[in-house]
Amino acid sequence: MPRLALSSGSRGRRLNEGAPRREGAGAAGGAPTSGVPAALRALGVRPSRRLGQNFLIDPRVAERIAALVLDPREPVIEIGPGLGALTTLLAASGREFTAVELDLRLAEALEMRLAPWLSARVVRGDILEQRAEDLVGGPATVVANLPYSITTPALEWIVTQGARVKRAVLMVQREYAQRLSAAPGGKEHGSITVFMQLHAEVRVLFRVSPGAFHPRPEVDSVVLEVVPRPYPGTTAEERASVERLARAGMGTRRKTLANALGRALEIDGATARAWLDGAGVDPGRRGETLTVEEWIALARREPGKSKPE
Ligand code: SAM
Repeated sequence: MPRLALSSGSRGRRLNEGAPRREGAGAAGGAPTSGVPAALRALGVRPSRRLGQNFLIDPRVAERIAALVLDPREPVIEIGPGLGALTTLLAASGREFTAVELDLRLAEALEMRLAPWLSARVVRGDILEQRAEDLVGGPATVVANLPYSITTPALEWIVTQGARVKRAVLMVQREYAQRLSAAPGGKEHGSITVFMQLHAEVRVLFRVSPGAFHPRPEVDSVVLEVVPRPYPGTTAEERASVERLARAGMGTRRKTLANALGRALEIDGATARAWLDGAGVDPGRRGETLTVEEWIALARREPGKSKPE
C-alpha cells in the first residue's frame, strides 16, 4: 500500500487518488498489505511508542472508518494523521478538513500530499493544545486512530470543545473501551467511566485486530463512536462536582466512600456519613460501586456546596 505519494506528481490529483490500495493476491484474498514500513524508512521515521505510532496498514479498516463520516460537507478534524491512512479518504470529498499532527516530519510529508485539496490543511502541533473552533468553521466530526498514550486527555478534549465537535469516530484499545462502558463494581469501572457517562454517549462500532497495524500492537482495538452531550438534567456545575467527587472517591480503592470522601474534602466522619445517608448511598460502599446517578445525588448534597434538592 504505497500511499505516501510525496512527489510533486501527487499535485493536482483529486478524489480517491492516494487512497489506500489493495495490492496483489494477498489483498484480493482479504489480507492487509502495506508500504508503511518503506514510507517510514523514506522519511527517516522510527515508530515512536511515546507518540503512540501504530500505523494503520489495512485499507479495509481505513475505508470502514471513512465510510462512517457520510456527509461529504461535514467538517472533519483528524487527530494524528500519521502517514495519512485515513486522511486522503476523508479529505477527498472537498470538505473542510484539518489534521493535527505532533510529529513534524509526518506533518510536513502530509502537507505536501494534501496540497491538491484546497479545503484541507495540516496543523503541526499537539491536539491537546488546540481549540476546535480554531481548527474548523462548523460542527465537526473528529476522526482518529488515537495515539493510545493520550486516549484519556483526547476524550476529555473532544467532550469539552462545545458545539464545534458534534461527534467522534475513534480507534482505541479494546480494554480501554471496556473501561468506558464498565458496570459499577468491576475493576474496570473508574473515574473515566463516570466522566464519559457525564459527557457523552459512547458506542462500540467494530473490533480491529493487531494485524491491521504497523508496528503490530499487543492488544486488540475497537472503533468507537462518541457523541458529546451533557448528562440529561445536570448543570455544568454539578458535572464538575461529580468529576471531582468521583476522582476523590475512587482514588483509594480500598477505602470506604465515607473515609475517602471525608479525607479528600476534609470533613469529619459524622458529616460524611450523614451526607452519604442523605443521598441514599451506604457510607460503607466503595467508590467504584456507585452509578453515575448516585454520584450526581452526592454532588447535589455536598456539604457546604449545594442545597438539598
Ligand atoms: N492516523 C494514522 C494511521 O491510522 O495510520 C496514525 C495513527 S498513530 C496510532 C497516532 C498518530 O498520532 C501518530 O502519527 C502520532 O505522531 C500522532 N500523535 C501523537 N500524539 C499526538 C498529539 N498529542 N497530537 C497530535 N498528534 C499526535
